[in-house]
Amino acid sequence: MPIPFQNTYARLPGTFFEKVDPTPVRAPQLIALNSQLASQMGIDPAELTLEILSGNEVPTGAEPLAMAYSGHQFGGFSPQLGDGRAILLGEVAGKDIQLKGSGLTPFSRRGDGRSALGPVLREYLVSEAMAALGVPTTRALAAVLSGENVVREEIEPGGIFTRVASSHLRIGTVQYFAARQDHESLEALVNYTLARHYPESKTALELLENVIARQASLIAHWMSLGFIHGVMNTDNMSLSGETIDYGPCAFMDRFDPAKKFSYIDQNGRYAYHNQASIGRWNLTRLAEALLPLLHENTDTAVEIAKGALDKFGPLFENSYQQRFSNKLGLPGRCEPALIESLLILMAEQQTDFTLVFRHLSGPEENLLTQFKDPEPVKAWLSKWRGSGDIDIDLMQRSNPIFIPRNHRIEEVIVAGKKNDFEPFHQLHAILQKPFTEQAGAEAFEQTPEPDQIVPATFCGT
Ligand code: AMP
Ligand code: MG
Repeated sequence: MPIPFQNTYARLPGTFFEKVDPTPVRAPQLIALNSQLASQMGIDPAELTLEILSGNEVPTGAEPLAMAYSGHQFGGFSPQLGDGRAILLGEVAGKDIQLKGSGLTPFSRRGDGRSALGPVLREYLVSEAMAALGVPTTRALAAVLSGENVVREEIEPGGIFTRVASSHLRIGTVQYFAARQDHESLEALVNYTLARHYPESKTALELLENVIARQASLIAHWMSLGFIHGVMNTDNMSLSGETIDYGPCAFMDRFDPAKKFSYIDQNGRYAYHNQASIGRWNLTRLAEALLPLLHENTDTAVEIAKGALDKFGPLFENSYQQRFSNKLGLPGRCEPALIESLLILMAEQQTDFTLVFRHLSGPEENLLTQFKDPEPVKAWLSKWRGSGDIDIDLMQRSNPIFIPRNHRIEEVIVAGKKNDFEPFHQLHAILQKPFTEQAGAEAFEQTPEPDQIVPATFCGT
């Protein structure tokens, strides 16, 4: 049975994309195929051949194209970005199937259109871990080795990643048409996005409100897991509310609110504790881009936009409190001060974020060993226990045992560069059940030893 493509994006006006086929590679090799996801999408996994996943063959029904978009990158606006190393094959079951690292497109600028193997493995593992953790995210359908080298800091094996997303529409897509004052395309984009993601809604204001609500909830979810996206540029913020673009992302080990990983984020713009305010900043750029559709009078449009943006803070706070209340087993009745005081203790004593929450629901001595000075923790514990009936089940469903720790991903990448994908498959399997104890996997729970710490991650470029 052929792959059941139904390509709605390719039906949009020509201003939205450039048609381009993937560039073939010499000697591709399959690393991983997510048959379960394929089946969920109504695709017979056997149809996803290596030839297709490497870009060597365009499947029947696909209409390959590179999407146009703009974006604020580290605060500066680039009016012309677009898919420079990604090609949308088309949609299946309402989801985009995209090849990443599949060759040059009209938007490649100075890039080579390719991906190194490392970022492919990282995105596969982290996006699938996020899905298993219940976080809205793009998914991994496949990873292949291209059999060709790419030149980055050093020469590295190349890879091609097949990504599935509810869509690849982003704040930057809206900005693209706003920057060109192309109101016709802007309106077409809003209608298309509403039909695809918010079918109950009809107006640009509703689109803005929906994206604000989804992003507020998403960022709070990230923070409840110690996740740092790392490159929250407006072209990396999805209109559907999924986490997208796992470039320099990472889960924190030791809790530090100012933690950042991305090597290029020198000022910590995208540090852990800045994620909500950057989210709001990005949503403000979305509101700006939508202004002409909010009201014909600009002053009125600005007032309408402000009203919508003002909801972001309370929505985020509410989501954040809810997530952390669940982590403490006190659903809907946890004092914000109780959460805050634990986080302060954790930061002061540089404890592992995941392990502290995990051990809160277990024997006290396991928890206390996480702290250098247990005395203030005992005081906190008695306040916590005095706060009401603690829902241990909920805690165990809210506090993962296994997260994709950076040093483990690094091990996977080092082995992968030597053509050994055993560590990749092992880590992937463990991360499928993040809330379940797994015999033999205890080492994967642990925080890195000082010599295992990976201090920085690099962008996927
Ligand atoms: P990202 O950092 O992945 O969000 O990418 C930012 C922009 O740079 C996007 O327009 C990408 O398509 C483009 N880009 C990143 N890497 C490459 C590459 N190797 N070749 C061409 N374009 C790239
Ligand atoms: Mg991007």
